[in-house]
Amino acid sequence: MTEHFEVVARDGAARVGDLRLADSLRTPAVGDDVLADAGSLWTDERSVPEGDPERLTVLPNRGFPRGTAPEVEDAFAPDYPDVDFPSAAVVTPDTAGDHGADAYVLSGAPGFVGHGSAFVDAVIETRESIPDDTALVLSGVATPENVPLLAYAGVDLVDADRAVVRGTQGRYLTTDGETRLEDLDELPCPCPACATSVADFDREDCVDHNVNALRAELARVRQRIGAGSLRDYLEGQSRFQPWLTAAFRGFDQQWGYLEERTPVFRSATMAATTGDATRRVEIRRFADRVTSRYRPRFADRPILLVPCSAGKPYGQSKSHSRFQDAANYRAHKVSLTSPIGVVPRELELTYPAQHYDAAVTGRWDAEEVRFVADVLARYLDRTDYPRIVAHVPDDGYRQVVERATADRDVPVEYTVDGHPTDADSLAALAGALEGERSIRVSENERATVRAVADYQFGEGAGDDLFPDFETTGRHPKQRVVVDGEQMAALVPEYGVLALTLAGARRWVDSDVPTRRVEIDDFVPQGSVLAPGVVDADRDIRPGDEVVIEGPSAFGVGRATAHGAAMVESSRGMVVQPRHVAER
Ligand SMILES: [Zn+2]
Repeated sequence: MTEHFEVVARDGAARVGDLRLADSLRTPAVGDDVLADAGSLWTDERSVPEGDPERLTVLPNRGFPRGTAPEVEDAFAPDYPDVDFPSAAVVTPDTAGDHGADAYVLSGAPGFVGHGSAFVDAVIETRESIPDDTALVLSGVATPENVPLLAYAGVDLVDADRAVVRGTQGRYLTTDGETRLEDLDELPCPCPACATSVADFDREDCVDHNVNALRAELARVRQRIGAGSLRDYLEGQSRFQPWLTAAFRGFDQQWGYLEERTPVFRSATMAATTGDATRRVEIRRFADRVTSRYRPRFADRPILLVPCSAGKPYGQSKSHSRFQDAANYRAHKVSLTSPIGVVPRELELTYPAQHYDAAVTGRWDAEEVRFVADVLARYLDRTDYPRIVAHVPDDGYRQVVERATADRDVPVEYTVDGHPTDADSLAALAGALEGERSIRVSENERATVRAVADYQFGEGAGDDLFPDFETTGRHPKQRVVVDGEQMAALVPEYGVLALTLAGARRWVDSDVPTRRVEIDDFVPQGSVLAPGVVDADRDIRPGDEVVIEGPSAFGVGRATAHGAAMVESSRGMVVQPRHVAER
């Protein structure tokens, strides 16, 4: 039960929180002013400290070295006293659990901060053991350089100890590392401590600057979490220090921890500028869903493989308009792109297909070719297209197609000579598809609804939820109507379906696994808050469509937290309902 901490925004494992004491502190933050260490009381008097309503009192503790046998720790571990003032309990990854505190201080941080895999393991083990809506505190380690990674990992509070110590040692800290004072030719910072000449800048100033720099970087981090772009920043910033890059990649390898916490869509544009982009959750999730949940409805037609366009959604770009004009919609258009992989026409609006911005050089590296070819091969494995028409230039795109189709019976017909939009290439494309039947607009609209349902709700969902329906409204603002009643609307900004109450009832009655949030006996007026949640499916991800069910209410809305957080939290908004009915 956390009385004094609330998560107010999430992005992946990173969170913006409110530490509610006399004054509210927005986290991730430097907590020196609010942390009161009562640790020594344990050995002296073994008594419970008095506490202070204006501070987080760190409860008496005894640190154990990592790897101490659990029996030994159990025998000596303090009983975490049940206190009614704001408190933080000291834990190791092994002793972490719900001890009733508002915050948890992970002991031994200087031992693992600086070591990629040790850091990843310690934070994940601890964060997964303590309740989601409690603050995770790392002491004695934060610098302007490492604090973006700490926040990305799920750390909420740090202290300025290390920044201060390095200042007294004459080390000037920046987001890209540290410099010895004597090596500074000028002061690359506009903070008050740096408003002097290098000659007059002493170690006391350096301490002040280091703390200012740490606070400024935390402000940037909070801003980035709110905007959904901390990952994009870290892909670049973590390069300055090998251990940061190692830890950053370590989190990508620990797929589950980040995946559970990563939203299914964002409004922010994703900057895909490094090789690490192919390993981020959003990219792998899209590739996985396209090759496991999605099923093409035009697999009896030729597949038309085309390069992605810089303008998005692809369908509205100049190059794709010309492809479709030449092809006369006589094939199922599937775009190839790094870093996303394969984007069928029906999913061109679906996050992140129209939300990424890649660095285009015209040259593909081996890793990009391998990734996209692998996704295309998996895609083709589940389909039975009679023809493969590849309207791709003779570069990385062609390598992708050759690699993905090497062992297939269906021959590949290449139609590009030079550039894909050259007149000769377009004529060859038109010629290749001559005689095939065009896909009608209405066919495409229906296929889009079902494809998005597959992608969003699971394999087979499109046919199970909507065996028979009409679409109204102009693409992409389509509405799904069954027997005159609206079931869902396509949200063009994210390419997802938003269900109506009737649509939600249909979901509950179908064979498609329903993502449910069970609530207490009340009718939500506005947001569903964590205390009202009785249970929630653990496979709910932030942004997911969810059904809200309680003794008095039935509704549908969008999750703002992952399922485990809904259940573990005692504060904060967890579902944004769209429609609710009494029952
Ligand atoms: Zn400064």
